[in-house]
Amino acid sequence: MANIEKNNKIREKGRETRIRRKSQEARVFEIKFDANKISNQKLNSIKRAFLEGKWFTNYIIAKGVTESVPYKDYNVKKVNIKVNDAPEERELNVLSSQMKEYMIKRLQNNIKALTKLKKEGKRVGKIKYIKSLHSIPLMQYGITYKIDMERKRVHIQGLGDFKAVGLDQIPGNYEFATANLIERNGDYFLHVVAYAAKSEKAQNDKAVGIDLGIKNQVTFSNGIQVQYAVPMQERTKRLYHAFSRSKYDKEKKTRSKRGLKLLYKINREFAHQNNQKRDINNKLAHYVTCNYQYVAYQNDNIASWATFYGKKIYQTSIGEFRNVLKRKACTPLEIGRFERTTGICPNCGRSLHLDLSDRAFVCPSCGCLYDRDVSAANMIRKLGLSLWNIGETLAEGNASTSSMLVYIKHIPHVKASISVEARSPKLTDVAEVPSVRAG
Ligand SMILES: [Zn+2]
Repeated sequence: MANIEKNNKIREKGRETRIRRKSQEARVFEIKFDANKISNQKLNSIKRAFLEGKWFTNYIIAKGVTESVPYKDYNVKKVNIKVNDAPEERELNVLSSQMKEYMIKRLQNNIKALTKLKKEGKRVGKIKYIKSLHSIPLMQYGITYKIDMERKRVHIQGLGDFKAVGLDQIPGNYEFATANLIERNGDYFLHVVAYAAKSEKAQNDKAVGIDLGIKNQVTFSNGIQVQYAVPMQERTKRLYHAFSRSKYDKEKKTRSKRGLKLLYKINREFAHQNNQKRDINNKLAHYVTCNYQYVAYQNDNIASWATFYGKKIYQTSIGEFRNVLKRKACTPLEIGRFERTTGICPNCGRSLHLDLSDRAFVCPSCGCLYDRDVSAANMIRKLGLSLWNIGETLAEGNASTSSMLVYIKHIPHVKASISVEARSPKLTDVAEVPSVRAG
């Protein structure tokens, strides 16, 4: 009887959670374990957990994973693995039964997905043994893991407490759900899915146009131009140089131990550079989506720019910036790739011929002075609003432009300025501007 009551309670709780989730939105946070504050003993046990996870996964795969049969294997404490084709026994001391339970579930989900693909007529392979494991599921908050925001610590079942970096990015109103313990290039992270009430996105009837480019990475229709690049560190270049000279056995296709060590260090450097870029893109997109209801941008083929400007594009990843806008803007307005946006006077619509080197122009019809990229951003804004039949939107005040400039200037590695045109739209500036042929 007590069991039925317990089951009913669990079911009721699950129902409540599902209803609550409908009014919430999920976000994933990455929390890094502070590598300097992990004792050797804890480091060994966390490494052991991933090793045991690998053994356990291969043990289940060897048994043959099926979709529906419930496994009781989460209680096993010993598994057999093959070492040079001879079975050897390994003990599972660190992995908890909940971790094991969800590792089985994860495999079963993979099987389900594969079966589905097969039914759709796709060719699918079998699940293969793994060489290393990089993620351990932690399903229940409060049991398999816990977060102490005040002490900036993360508790992992069976592994203990870890000092964490990046907890301050999580606002207090978030409710933690599932998580994954992640190993990446020797660093450890917690990827947490957290829920909060759906945020009120900007509903202010304001619109902004955004032009993406090479010289100015981002130009806004209000005249703000943003430049950023996270260049490759000298250290990375040196590591590369050393790596290219490390021994490589062509027959066995193996690299020397030293070479592998260098590769590992290079990967870490790249991970760091990518994080910096992601951070910049997120901060810029955050400001835009919180302050403008309508966000217009062009669907440029940014990948193709890399052919001409490879290194520069890699240093910015503006494609990712556009993707964040697409996802987060209240109303994203996407302009087709082939819409003409450069060399048109946003004021009177006159078409002009601009050379690649012409950074600004004076319109021969109406005398307006425009920066090349700012005029494009304005055209993008105009096209976006007209293509989607939005009509007029609220005008932008100087105060909001200058507070935006201040915000952007505070992002590390980012330079921002207001273009000539926005600063002074008078004809007195014409002298500084190259003359432009009317087209
Ligand atoms: Zn004009």
